[in-house]
Amino acid sequence: MRLGGEPESSNFEDRTGQGGGFGFGGGGGNALGCLLPLVMSRFGIVGVIILLLGYCVLTQLGGGGGGLVPGGPTTTAPTSQSAGQSRLPAQTKEFLTRVLGSTEQTWGELFAKSGQRYVPTTMVAYTSGTQSGCGAAQAAMGPFYCPDDKKIYIDPSFFNELSQRFGAPGDFAQAYVVAHEVGHHVQDLEGTLDQAHNLQARASETEGNAIQVKVELQADCYAGVWAANARDAQGSIMEQGDLEEGMRAAEAIGDDTLQKQSQGVVVPESFTHGTSAQRMNALRTGYQSGNPAACKSL
Ligand SMILES: [Zn+2]
Repeated sequence: MRLGGEPESSNFEDRTGQGGGFGFGGGGGNALGCLLPLVMSRFGIVGVIILLLGYCVLTQLGGGGGGLVPGGPTTTAPTSQSAGQSRLPAQTKEFLTRVLGSTEQTWGELFAKSGQRYVPTTMVAYTSGTQSGCGAAQAAMGPFYCPDDKKIYIDPSFFNELSQRFGAPGDFAQAYVVAHEVGHHVQDLEGTLDQAHNLQARASETEGNAIQVKVELQADCYAGVWAANARDAQGSIMEQGDLEEGMRAAEAIGDDTLQKQSQGVVVPESFTHGTSAQRMNALRTGYQSGNPAACKSL
């Protein structure tokens, strides 16, 4: 990717120096828009894994009503010993704020085309854990979007995991992750997350999962739409090989691929994000069309 021509976003909170926040306050919250159905915890704690499943798979979409109590009972305040000291490398911060800035520019234009105004999301970078409007954020959950406070939460060490563990290195693989979460924010602005939430409230678990798959695939597609439209003064910021990096990431985090790796068997009813093929197809559809209308909705 050729980043540098776009403005760095100011909608960015650096909480990387704020320590733990290591509470699992409440469990199944309202957060949605995880990139992954389940990131196997690098802490290797079984309890965490179960909780994560609960958090991502069984939770409901959307803002409003019935979420976690912010600052749930077991959530700890940021520790003071490291407070204020950012642990975010300048290069990582620049990457995140430029990609975010590019999404603001691109979605701003796309919204304007249909006579609407794009209200940007805020990105929160943290290490290990922090408090979100949807409950305690844990690095092991992977990046996610919280509709209740309209923020994206990301521990940038996820990018190492993406590269090493999921075998998807490259700047566009990382940008795809950010753009996927921004895609959830777009869905939030469009009312799709609320709509999904309402549908899921009346649905069985299997039907609820199927609704969530549609939401996630549309976010993948929106990531492609951003990439297709992202430009600076010299033209597209996409370079040779970038799309392939994104494809590799989309393939690596498909439900079937992750389930095969983690449990050896594939259980389609439990899918929440779509198969590798579906995720790759969604990203490609968005990229080739460059048009949000090409991204299937609910
Ligand atoms: Zn998602």
